[in-house]
Amino acid sequence: MSEITGLALRSPLKKSLRSREQIRAHVIQEMNEDKNTAERYASARSAEAFGLLPKGFDLDSFMIDLLTEQIAGLYDPKAHEFYVADWIPIDDQRRVMAHELTHALEDQHFQIEAWEKAARPNDDGELARESVLEGSAMVAMMEYLLQESGRSLKDLPDIDPAMLVGDMDETPTLKKAPPFIKDALIFPYLDGMTFSAAVLKPSGWAALPGIFAKPPVSTQQIMHPSLYNSGKVPSPLSLPSLEKTLGLDWVKLEENSMGEFGWKEVLKQFLGEARAKPLSAAWDGDRYAVYEQKQTKHLLLITRERLASREQAERFFAQYSEALEKKHEQRNNLFRKPDFFSFDTQDGGVFLRCVENECVTLEGGDRALFLKFNKELQWPPLPEQPKVLAKEVEEIATRTGDGMTSRGPLSGQLSQGRHFAPTL
Ligand SMILES: [Zn+2]
Repeated sequence: MSEITGLALRSPLKKSLRSREQIRAHVIQEMNEDKNTAERYASARSAEAFGLLPKGFDLDSFMIDLLTEQIAGLYDPKAHEFYVADWIPIDDQRRVMAHELTHALEDQHFQIEAWEKAARPNDDGELARESVLEGSAMVAMMEYLLQESGRSLKDLPDIDPAMLVGDMDETPTLKKAPPFIKDALIFPYLDGMTFSAAVLKPSGWAALPGIFAKPPVSTQQIMHPSLYNSGKVPSPLSLPSLEKTLGLDWVKLEENSMGEFGWKEVLKQFLGEARAKPLSAAWDGDRYAVYEQKQTKHLLLITRERLASREQAERFFAQYSEALEKKHEQRNNLFRKPDFFSFDTQDGGVFLRCVENECVTLEGGDRALFLKFNKELQWPPLPEQPKVLAKEVEEIATRTGDGMTSRGPLSGQLSQGRHFAPTL
């Protein structure tokens, strides 16, 4: 692997075969060292607020099962040791070792754990760095496998990622994983591999130190290597603080950036992959915050997105308002203007507003809170919402025959839309 990557082995490595139980124990240990219980709770509830995980989903247990099942080998940067699962066939063990050895060599030269964590607290940037680590290890592994047939990566017009993940689908836990978990698991390997192959192609592995010296800053750069090469970095966005307005009964669980990958997942969840892809590619920066009511555990989500242009913001408005309707099947008091959209649900109000090339959302709060949010952003005043008279509500309900909050004719389709077929 040193020959392939050009990275010399600086110190000897330990290798061991591990049983499934040992790998499971390692997964649990890693999970605890990576984030504490409160941080993991915050991540899971934030994903829930975006609609990426079902309510009350036990993310920790699920991830432990999934990783124990998926991990064929791993490199432990703390122990400078790599493990190979003892239940995989000998032929596959060589493939796994090629991958893990690349991690080990990169670690000896670039201290991969510290390098990856240096992106914190930016989640999107950290996922981008993880994609470099996994992606470059995939490329090196591919080269190792190709060597046997006397070919190299340059002989391939393009890598077909499907050949690598072909068997990933088959494990029982991955099969029942929410689409977001599956995509997030595969992203660093697949998109990371495409990225690494693209960046390494012109001058080969000699370009690797350059990637560590100038890491991609976002999943957008991973998904579009040309934006890494051109150095596209959106200027940061900030969110107004709502802590004071919300009062002491609320706690902020998380504030971070979803990035293009995260938004693609959110849009895909409700609108499908074909619509999510071009829409999320217009991402030009975002920020979100999730608050939780201490007693009721009620969630409040606010987001702010910058799109590539005003036209893209208009498209986002039209399509995300549809996504929000799909997300909240039970709703009433729907109010729609060209740049402002809101409705009420049992869990509070839902608001979407776009001004120029930016959009904001609020879910789980009331209009007064959104007014405050709007004011803090120094955006123009909101359109007045007409007072709906009880009599009118009754009339509408009688006319449509199903009442304003009942499940309309679309509801069957809507709930089906959340169980779309996995893409891989
Ligand atoms: Zn790896």
